[in-house]
Amino acid sequence: ATAQIGVTGLAVMGRNLARNLARNGFTVAVHNRSPERTRTLVAEHGDEGTFVPAESLADFVAALERPRAVIVMVKAGGPTDAVIDELVPLLDAGDIVVDCGNAHFADTRRREEALREHGLHFVGTGVSGGEEGALLGPSIMPGGSAESYRKLGPIFEKIAAQVEGTPCCRHVGPDGAGHFVKMVHNGIEYADMQLIAEAYDLLRVGLSAEPAEIAEIFRGWNSGELESFLIEITADVLAHTDAGTGRAFVDVVRDQAEQKGTGRWTVQIALDLGIPITGIAEATFARSLSGHADQREAARAAFGDVGEKWQVSDREAFVEDVRRALLASKIVAYAQGFDQIRAGSREYDWDIDLGGTATIWRGGCIIRARFLDRIRQAYDEQPELPTLLVAPWFADTVRDGVPSWRRVVADAARAGVPAPAFASSLAYFDALRAERLPAALIQGLRDNFGAHTYHRVDREGSFHTLWSGDRTEVEG
Ligand code: NDP
Repeated sequence: ATAQIGVTGLAVMGRNLARNLARNGFTVAVHNRSPERTRTLVAEHGDEGTFVPAESLADFVAALERPRAVIVMVKAGGPTDAVIDELVPLLDAGDIVVDCGNAHFADTRRREEALREHGLHFVGTGVSGGEEGALLGPSIMPGGSAESYRKLGPIFEKIAAQVEGTPCCRHVGPDGAGHFVKMVHNGIEYADMQLIAEAYDLLRVGLSAEPAEIAEIFRGWNSGELESFLIEITADVLAHTDAGTGRAFVDVVRDQAEQKGTGRWTVQIALDLGIPITGIAEATFARSLSGHADQREAARAAFGDVGEKWQVSDREAFVEDVRRALLASKIVAYAQGFDQIRAGSREYDWDIDLGGTATIWRGGCIIRARFLDRIRQAYDEQPELPTLLVAPWFADTVRDGVPSWRRVVADAARAGVPAPAFASSLAYFDALRAERLPAALIQGLRDNFGAHTYHRVDREGSFHTLWSGDRTEVEG
């Protein structure tokens, strides 16, 4: 046995992760259900490091040093279970199975428990950065036992993206913690992309600008506080011209956004945990809405253009308004995402370090951004921060952005340009800072029709008003 680690599942992600490991000096056993992928990997990239190819899972396992560390990088869901079931009888107590696929954290919890009974470590690991990240340095979010991290940590921290000498990888917490954090990462990615898309749409309509001009605006933004991978590639995509038609690429793409499901999971779990991640939810629903072509066509036919005519007078000021609205809305989306991680951590006893999570996301992943450094600082300085919105830099930025934010959302509403994530982020902010919420009326209604009782502002206890009687108040 010579390999320090093994990878089974050599489609784009697994192949690139294996190459990354080999390029960093680790001896990697490689295996794939259909052996052609294994042969191709070794034929095309065998000179990048030391690979130990195996055509059967038994040979693959036999090639690994003990305690064995096996990365499973296959299709999420049933295929992952199938591979685990095949692996378990071949392994010995103390060995480590790492699932780097996009698993639901509840599946990871189930698998971890099952493997623990066999004396095996199961490490559900979130990996972000797509195929390029897997090869050149992804963001890695491992869950699982502290003992397993002692073996995996040095390997993962070496192959992960590095930002100012710090790896974008650290032990997130036990069992499902890593996949949970990866799920929220993807949810935030949905919100980030929706906000960028709304900003583009507003600039396009408000300025009557072409995509290439808007690309330049995004390029400019990328040298400021908004600097991030997503803003950078937005400029690239907007500047791209379709070779066949000579039109802007973005104009030849069908306007129906698809999803693989991690945004949906994030929203579903947020509902269970009672965490209002309105930005991520709007973004997820906006994708669903875009896909309802029949309803969109019917509504377009019924209503046509009912927005008011929109003429931006000061172009520069408008661009700055949109930038500030985007930054403020983005802060809301991240604040909500981190709230969800904290809630998950409490619910499942994961003890997740929020500042540490921001550290993992500073590089390698899709939401990597300058901004993440500020989040890390905020949670490092104040781990019990009630919401990211009130950390000094974020509070100042939001406060400065409020007038712009209101103008943009109001302009969008008047012109009939949908900006659901901008608008709901602003509403979330206004609700959080409101002196009184109309929730009091909702409690009154609930008491009226269902005797659900209410609490008073001036006395302890719960109360009920005899609505169908003489309306006296009784202790509930
Ligand atoms: P795919 O999700 O397309 O999965 C293909 C791989 O799974 C192949 O190696 C295939 O083997 C194997 N496989 C499928 N079913 C079985 C089975 N029943 N038994 C054994 N092996 C099976 O590959 P990707 O590389 O795109 O993704 C791998 C994982 O990484 C997924 O969980 C994905 O969600 C996750 N991920 C992907 C990202 C991306 O950008 N693509 C980013 C981050 C995570 P065979 O060749 O024999 O068919």
